[in-house]
Amino acid sequence: MPRQIIYNSPHPSVEIQSSSIFTHFYSDKASLNDSPAFIDATSGTRMSRIETYDLSLRLALSIKQRGGVRDDVAMVFSPNSLAWVPTLLGLLAAGLRPTLANSSYTPRELAHQLKDSGAGMIFVHPVLFPVVIKTFTLLGIPGDQARRRVVIMSYLDQDRADEKAAKIGPEWTRLNDFFGEGRLGSEELFVGDQVHETAILCYSSGTTGLSKGVEITHWNVIAFCTSFLACFPKPDPKTDVAAGPLPYYHIALMSLITHFIAKVPEVIMRFEPNLFAESIEKYKISRMHLVPPILVTMSFHPAFDKYNMSTLKLLSSGAAPLGDGLVKKVLAKFAERGNNHIKITQGYGLTESTSQALWLGVEDSTRKIGSAGWLIPNLQARLVDEDESDITPGPDSRGELWLRGPSVMKGYWQNPAATQKSFTPDGWFKTGDIVIVDEENFFRVVDRKKELIKYKGFQVPPAELEALLLSKEDILDAAVIGVESPEATELPCAYVVASRNAELLKDPKAAVAFGEEVQRWIKPKVAHYKYLRGGVFIIDAIPKSGSGKILRSKLRELTKERTLGR
Ligand code: AMP
Repeated sequence: MPRQIIYNSPHPSVEIQSSSIFTHFYSDKASLNDSPAFIDATSGTRMSRIETYDLSLRLALSIKQRGGVRDDVAMVFSPNSLAWVPTLLGLLAAGLRPTLANSSYTPRELAHQLKDSGAGMIFVHPVLFPVVIKTFTLLGIPGDQARRRVVIMSYLDQDRADEKAAKIGPEWTRLNDFFGEGRLGSEELFVGDQVHETAILCYSSGTTGLSKGVEITHWNVIAFCTSFLACFPKPDPKTDVAAGPLPYYHIALMSLITHFIAKVPEVIMRFEPNLFAESIEKYKISRMHLVPPILVTMSFHPAFDKYNMSTLKLLSSGAAPLGDGLVKKVLAKFAERGNNHIKITQGYGLTESTSQALWLGVEDSTRKIGSAGWLIPNLQARLVDEDESDITPGPDSRGELWLRGPSVMKGYWQNPAATQKSFTPDGWFKTGDIVIVDEENFFRVVDRKKELIKYKGFQVPPAELEALLLSKEDILDAAVIGVESPEATELPCAYVVASRNAELLKDPKAAVAFGEEVQRWIKPKVAHYKYLRGGVFIIDAIPKSGSGKILRSKLRELTKERTLGR
């Protein structure tokens, strides 16, 4: 076997507790007190640590009484809300496997995840109830079965107002009905090898194809939290307050979990610039995980001038590349407002690595600006070339990043072919991202080998959009790529061969009109972040390799030429 060149994390290794996630969360029973663990940004409603414990075990009992059994999959379909906390923890306490669905999904997209995950119960926020009903219709699920499977996640007054607006009748079960008198005596225990059982199913398209269930085990979550918290600046539970502007249905859920373990209260919100800025002042927020587009908003939006930002100390960006230009702009903006103590840093990770695999320490955030930092404790990496041979280390070695370690997923849910393709036989996970590593072991993410597009941190699988475009009668072939935009994100852009191609290629106005029609056509079929914002262009033929693989790099070059030619 050729020699492997392995990069070990420069951090000391950490020991990982072998238990269920729920047991790990509450292993410090002394911390079960009245201090707030979560705060709803809009209403100010607080949920204390003891309440989270109590509500979760009450919910867990009801789940079991309803017939939920260990290892069943249950879906959570909700934007960020306080109800997320007992729902997620209650499912874990009962030994079920939550599968988290994007709250922007259309019925078609939700149906895919519902079928693929095999979820029985569905916990849905009232605002998304109509989507679930349409999904049931699409799948031919009868009303009585639907009523048995659905639990409406209303917990706060505002959720009840949403319930009314969605006209949800009394025949549907509410979360409150689930908080019965009794509670489960003890959570389901996962011991020994059972810690390697799947605990949470997030969805990711991986390097290719449609969205797949990422099997994150109890061990993965505990390993990630323990490793990450070992290199993350230790919060002061008395003064630090975190914000949760990233959606919990994404692997960004780990920010909620790590704050909970670190005993830092988290202010829960759906990102909206005014609410976000106001909450920073109102709750004295000091730290958070965010994505580059939020930093872009912070750099120009007037809300951030209106409110006091002086409590902010640490912003950790992830999910997409964070350029040094943006960091400097935001730091300058904060300095203008007298906040010179804020640090902006970056992490890199994937759903498949249970979120961050690399993280740039605060002490290096200025010196190594733009870098995604070191491997977190317990992780190993390799850099390989196109032929999967290890790159000889040298100044700024560049190659595809492979990862191995306890926070790397178990595999893709009921998809052995995709799992086998993503791992080497000795357990290296192929990220599909191209990185550079310097002589001090700092990694910089420079490119992506895989076909994935990310719009504002959300995954856009080209294969899904291509399949949809091909289902349109007058499109003969299609390819979708991402184009960079000044808002620090990528825009999905389609190249198509239309049945009227000869005519459209001669008539630029008709081609533009056709492109716009396709953009409108796709909108009701997909979540908003998959809209073809980068445009739809007519092309003679989609460039393909001999084996029929779309040559996306050729399309990227073409896009560059077109943009420069403007
Ligand atoms: P997700 O599974 O949705 O978190 O997406 C994972 C992908 O996001 C990675 O494979 C990268 O392509 C991209 N990504 C995450 N963090 C970064 C980062 N700091 N810089 C560049 N790309 C990133």
